[in-house]
Amino acid sequence: MDQIDTIVVGAGVAGLTAARLLADAGRRVVVLEARDRVGGRVWTDRSDGHTTDLGASWIHGIEGSPTAAAADAFGMRQVEFTVGAYQAGSRPIAYYGPDGKRLSDEAASRFIADVAKVDAALQRVVAASEPSASYREVTNEALAMQGWDPERTRRVQEYLEHRTEEQYGVWIESLAAHGLDDDVPDGDEVVFPDGYDRLPTRLAEGLDVRLEHVVSRVEWAPEGVSVTTDHGSFVADTAVVTVPVGALQSGDVRIEPPLPPVNANGLSHLAMNAFEKVVLRFATRFWDEDVYAIRQQGPEAVWWHSWYDMTALDGTPTLLTFAAGPAAIATRGWAPEQVVDSVLTQLRRLYGDRVELPTSVHVTGWQDDPFTHGSYAYMRLGATAAHHDDIATPIGGVLHLAGEATWGEDPATVNAALLSGHRAASNVQGREIPIERLWGSATT
Ligand SMILES: Cc1cc2nc3c(=O)[nH]c(=O)nc-3n(C[C@H](O)[C@H](O)[C@H](O)COP(=O)(O)OP(=O)(O)OC[C@H]3O[C@@H](n4cnc5c(N)ncnc54)[C@H](O)[C@@H]3O)c2cc1C
Repeated sequence: MDQIDTIVVGAGVAGLTAARLLADAGRRVVVLEARDRVGGRVWTDRSDGHTTDLGASWIHGIEGSPTAAAADAFGMRQVEFTVGAYQAGSRPIAYYGPDGKRLSDEAASRFIADVAKVDAALQRVVAASEPSASYREVTNEALAMQGWDPERTRRVQEYLEHRTEEQYGVWIESLAAHGLDDDVPDGDEVVFPDGYDRLPTRLAEGLDVRLEHVVSRVEWAPEGVSVTTDHGSFVADTAVVTVPVGALQSGDVRIEPPLPPVNANGLSHLAMNAFEKVVLRFATRFWDEDVYAIRQQGPEAVWWHSWYDMTALDGTPTLLTFAAGPAAIATRGWAPEQVVDSVLTQLRRLYGDRVELPTSVHVTGWQDDPFTHGSYAYMRLGATAAHHDDIATPIGGVLHLAGEATWGEDPATVNAALLSGHRAASNVQGREIPIERLWGSATT
């Protein structure tokens, strides 16, 4: 390709969506990707004979989701798993109290009802909160309104701490009051037995993707853009830059001249989180039947409190847990065996000697990934949803930023990445592109 119309930086879901829609519209598009694979934070491992998603697993709500529409069109098998938003009681969950004993159904129902009461109050408290308020402050206010005794209050308070960590990979005092506004999934959630990476693989088909091209600089001017990589420079009329917040904030990808104030201000209100997956496979299943998840309460549960039973994916007894927020920061740099030991200690509190050593283990290292510097972005104190979208304000008619963090409604998701890529493509074209063009002609 001699002349390029649009350079897309990053072959994650945002970049591939933009590239595919623009190529479909007749533009000459080149995608520059630092890694030796497409997909970015959608990454499926098959090295041990199992299919393990090391990045995204869930579509958090399939109703009205273009990601779900694309997955359907591409023939991706899906398994319903509606516990991906740290719901207290969307599906059966085995709850264990601070003493390590399973709660009765009545006690679990009372706890689930308590969470619902606080969540209902929280909506009003968040709406009325000061711009600088933290999620800790608003949740404490909503808890205080209940007039409960300390024990009952503490159980819900720790649930809210853990929800913040699992959803945004950050301690509750560091997340903005509005940081979990969009957290209720529309409809069922699903996961992918054949791997989420089928989505980016299909999106990339037929595109000119240059792998192992590490971009260090993007220069923009009214006449066009110039992108510097470790394999030379590329020039084009327009660029769509989809690298994560961590790549922009670290200066790994420099924008010249620097981002205009509206984009820069939006970016300064976000930060990359600390969030790692721990996937354990076992020879035999030792935990409760007929539950989607296991959760424990109390001081012992400060790091390891929730395990998701992913056995339905391929029939192998499998638990997924997360090192999220403080746990991810503290265990960063630990050997996988140390992490597994720590997790198994907690499982043994609940299931005793029935807990065997796992037959296969995955512990992710997104905090040390040079092309993300974390898993996804969270809203710092003072941030509102609008700061996400501000980052995507078109720059000089030639440069467009996209990616999960640039989408204000339900950010930090694959769906946000996809929608941001669609918006960038429409902005490049100067007209709305029907999103269905992304999968319109797909045959499964
Ligand atoms: C552990 C984990 C669990 C998650 N769970 C879920 C989930 O269950 N459901 C959900 O919806 N979302 C989940 N997410 C979030 C979701 O994966 C992301 O929001 C989404 O994939 C981001 O897509 P993107 O295109 O914006 O960014 P990316 O996928 O990060 O794509 C950006 C691309 O830019 C490339 N790049 C970076 N720097 C350079 C450079 N210098 N030069 C060239 N290329 C560069 C990167 O390699 C990458 O391929 C999870 C993420 C993680 C890490």
